Amino acid sequence: MLNFNLSKSQLTLQKKARKFALETVLPEAWDYDARDETPVHILKKAFTEGLSHGDIPVQYGGKGFGIVDGAVITEEISAACPGMATSIFDNSLGMEPLILSSNEALKEKYLTQFAKDFKLISFATSEPTMGSDVSGIRCLAQPDGDDYILNGTKYWVTNGGIADYFSVFATVDPEQKHQGICGFFIDRKWPGIRVGQPIPKMGQRSSNTVGVHFDNVRVPKENVLAGPGEGFLLSMKTFSRTRPVIGAFAIGAARSAMEYALDYAGKRQAFGQKIGDFQAIQFKIAEMYQKIETSRLLVWKAAWEADNGIDPTLNASIAKFYATEECMAVVNEAMQVLGGYGYTNMFPLEKLYRDIRLLRIYEGTSEVQRMIVAGYVMGGYKPVMPPMEDLPLHRGSTPLEKRSEKAGNRSAWRCRICGHVHYGKQPPEECPYCFFPGSAFKPAGADKQK
Ligand SMILES: Cc1cc2nc3c(=O)[nH]c(=O)nc-3n(C[C@H](O)[C@H](O)[C@H](O)COP(=O)(O)OP(=O)(O)OC[C@H]3O[C@@H](n4cnc5c(N)ncnc54)[C@H](O)[C@@H]3O)c2cc1C
Repeated sequence: MLNFNLSKSQLTLQKKARKFALETVLPEAWDYDARDETPVHILKKAFTEGLSHGDIPVQYGGKGFGIVDGAVITEEISAACPGMATSIFDNSLGMEPLILSSNEALKEKYLTQFAKDFKLISFATSEPTMGSDVSGIRCLAQPDGDDYILNGTKYWVTNGGIADYFSVFATVDPEQKHQGICGFFIDRKWPGIRVGQPIPKMGQRSSNTVGVHFDNVRVPKENVLAGPGEGFLLSMKTFSRTRPVIGAFAIGAARSAMEYALDYAGKRQAFGQKIGDFQAIQFKIAEMYQKIETSRLLVWKAAWEADNGIDPTLNASIAKFYATEECMAVVNEAMQVLGGYGYTNMFPLEKLYRDIRLLRIYEGTSEVQRMIVAGYVMGGYKPVMPPMEDLPLHRGSTPLEKRSEKAGNRSAWRCRICGHVHYGKQPPEECPYCFFPGSAFKPAGADKQK
């Protein structure tokens, strides 16, 4: 049975997140964008209102929200400001390796604290010379007794400048690629950690992004999230659970863009009528709505899989690259509906356009998502149809085998190059269509079994 309804508690959460987005996030969105600064008081308010850190399991004193819950909240906040939504959701990304880790003592120590006190937790795999290829991590984790000594730089760390803790992925030996990668949970206050200047960005300027440098940082054994050979998998499992929510960012932003276009189309006059009366504009709006609805179906499906113990990796990738790319199309067309005004920063499309461009890049680019999906479809996917050379060909009213019998011949041969079927005991010397020699012919249909 399929059920596309949100539960009562999810509807309540949606209402709460929407109120927070409209009353707290939206009024500050343009100001913080212009200042290129993260409103920490808003991140704190999201926490106190129960709209961030919600995924801490109940056993550690958390709310035990699922990924669908996270997607519902994020859609609303992103609709008001994708940048602030990134900084709010970043805590889920930062905590996910800890939640997924098997280090029970570490979870007990930190998750119970994060459920009570407002702490910002960042996630760091990327480096100045590496992003997509996580196996290419260079940040070094040298074993020292039971501890590790960390040296290297992590880059593009969201909230890195204001974070209290970091989930960091590093390697015991870059030559070992995937096998060398480990995960650590790191306290910002430990000696040897330096944070760089905020990286100047095109959009999402209310979300802090920095480089973090580790200079002989001692990580005690207790803070190991995953040992060598386990870290890579932990980072990938994390992404499988966070990527659906990146799709939710896209849905929220696209929804707002469509609503702004709708608003404008109902007011702007051209050629003596409202532009919304032109079918060209109506069709744009119809396609925007179609893209939003289809994106939400994909995002919720992937999120539902994650919440129901099904590996969401594949659908998380599909949802991420579909929703983020369609969001770009929606925002682009919404800007078109607003004409010249859409291109100014006096209207909201300009900021949305800058903000959402990031969605195709972080947490795995669109290209990386396509690699994951192609890997499955071309590797693990089980086709229903037989290989084409095994297809019973029905070009007449009778199948190939019967036609073969009717013609008094015992065999049918199919040219592997152009698909021509030849009836006879032997293949022809040469294909009459593509001129390949008889060796290109293989027994076809039932004859294949003989
Ligand atoms: C604002 C912002 C915030 C971020 N926040 C975080 C964070 O909090 N934590 C974190 O760890 N990272 C973060 N990132 C990093 C982000 O995840 C990476 O930028 C992203 O994964 C891409 O890596 P890259 O920039 O190194 O690009 P590269 O990996 O160098 O890729 C460059 C281009 O080549 C393409 N490409 C690479 N390999 C292939 C391939 N095999 N086939 C086809 N195309 C390929 C990519 O798709 C891309 O188009 C953030 C980035 C930004 C911009």
